Amino acid sequence: MYYEYKPAETVRAQHGTTLRCKTWEAEAALRMLENNLDPAVSLVYDELIVYGGAGRAARNWKEYQTIVNTLKSLEADETMLVQSGKAVGVIRTWAHAPRVLIANSNLVPAWSTQEYFDELDKLGLMMYGQMTAGSWIYIATQGILQGTYETFAAVADKHFNGTLAGTVTLTAGLGGMSGAQPLAVTMNDGVCLVIEPIDARVKQKVREGYLDEQAHDLDHALKLMEQYKQARQGWSIGLTGNAATVLPELLQRNFRPDIVTDQTSAHDLMDYIPEGDITAVLQLRQDNPEEFKRQALASIMKHCQAIIDMQAGGAVALDYGNNLRGQAEKGGLRVRDEHGQFLYPGFVPGYIRPLFCEGKGPFRWAALSGDPQDILRIDRALLETFPDNKMLARWIEKAQAKVPFIGLPARVCWLGYGEREKFGLVINDLVARGEVSAPIVIGRDHLDCGSVASPNRETEGMKDGSDAVADWPLLNALANCASGADWVSLHNGGGVGIGNSTHAGMVIVATGTPEKAERLRRVLTTDPGMGVLRHADAGYELAQQVAEERGVKIPGIE
Ligand code: NAD
Repeated sequence: MYYEYKPAETVRAQHGTTLRCKTWEAEAALRMLENNLDPAVSLVYDELIVYGGAGRAARNWKEYQTIVNTLKSLEADETMLVQSGKAVGVIRTWAHAPRVLIANSNLVPAWSTQEYFDELDKLGLMMYGQMTAGSWIYIATQGILQGTYETFAAVADKHFNGTLAGTVTLTAGLGGMSGAQPLAVTMNDGVCLVIEPIDARVKQKVREGYLDEQAHDLDHALKLMEQYKQARQGWSIGLTGNAATVLPELLQRNFRPDIVTDQTSAHDLMDYIPEGDITAVLQLRQDNPEEFKRQALASIMKHCQAIIDMQAGGAVALDYGNNLRGQAEKGGLRVRDEHGQFLYPGFVPGYIRPLFCEGKGPFRWAALSGDPQDILRIDRALLETFPDNKMLARWIEKAQAKVPFIGLPARVCWLGYGEREKFGLVINDLVARGEVSAPIVIGRDHLDCGSVASPNRETEGMKDGSDAVADWPLLNALANCASGADWVSLHNGGGVGIGNSTHAGMVIVATGTPEKAERLRRVLTTDPGMGVLRHADAGYELAQQVAEERGVKIPGIE
């Protein structure tokens, strides 16, 4: 059903300054949608899958065409409504309202299960939007790279005297997001072994520069790990195999990594690959999905248990936001201690939450011109705007040296409350002065400080117990509409699977006009401000302090 109406010409984002739509805002949405689908960017082009298991950009190719045609005819005071990857209406709003409003994968809470969603998906009524797939602000593996890099830097700070040199990180998954792991570890000077069952993905990541080398087999991988660990040299090794097989095998051989995590697509049992011959297993997924899911769950439990055992053997273990622990628990594995805490922590409570308290998160921008020079110009402006920020300087230096542009050139950069507004205006000014050759799209992941409720990930173990309170992302989406974002999205199930999260996204296009400067000022203050006030409300002192120092108004808190 996906293939019908597939365009004769392969979809790629148009470059340059020629508009096919009536406004730059609609053109930006169109180019970012095309960019998500670009075969160099997307995971399974034919099925419109961008990343994260089955995260789609549009419901099918027919609906894709309708979205494209609607964007092309959209007036400057109209807004297109998208329901799970299908354009369902155009309403008259006004020039400063969003041009696109998106709701993906949402179900009434009591019906919000993977099984029920799958039924509706099969009937062609819904689509899984993941986080940035269905909201058209995915920027390929780079999008997660800085967050992963910062997380491993935080692990290094907390456990290894500030560097991963001389340590081995063991992980799994070399897909859209997970493929960032090896480069993030080597950027921190560590050695990384990544297990991935699909051989072509291992080879692809070597080709793209995200992975240094493919090992022939486990013996070879162990030899390479030892060699680079001894030399204290950053190096990443990919091994074709299944994590549920390889991790127990490593335990049996008495191998203990220094850090163990994983980023397989465990959030959906149809995407986690069970043990066994890969061709046979993928065939089983087609022929007998129920049996495939049963085997996937058994493998997840084995995989998760091996992580727990490695932790018991002294490794630093962390969950990397794919709900492996949650799935294993559903299968009956004991993953919590007597106080109800997970045996090993998620990366947010473990390492990222203090950044969220400051309104920091995966902010990003993409050059609609398609010209990498635009991004390099903005990199320069970034370093000039924040001359004292050493982490940021280190990130830009490493990114320029090691991160390939895939699809529209883009940059991810974790900025906080105050910084985002300041830099959004700098970008708008560069557009106004013609220092970049076309408008710049500014957005962020849904995985951000004030835009997501996800009890097994972003809001795991909140201080006040508000982990599952989903009012916050809903308020975030409403606030961004009210402030003047160009497209706003509300999704269910990103990262951790249907029913396990609610999250919102926003994008605004810097077109260089004074009106846009006004809107950028509002949106880029409101949006990270939600992160500060959400965490202040939950009782985090750092967020309360940030609110007080930087003037985030919180009723009841002086
Ligand atoms: P993806 O589907 O693009 O890639 C996942 C990879 O895992 C695939 O290449 C797959 O072959 C591999 N895999 C599946 N089963 C495996 C097994 N048993 N052993 C080893 N490898 C296996 O997904 P992605 O975009 O890379 O995302 C991965 C997971 O991370 C998803 O659950 C996603 O929701 C989550 N995620 C986390 C974050 C974060 O910030 N922590 C961000 C985005 C996505």
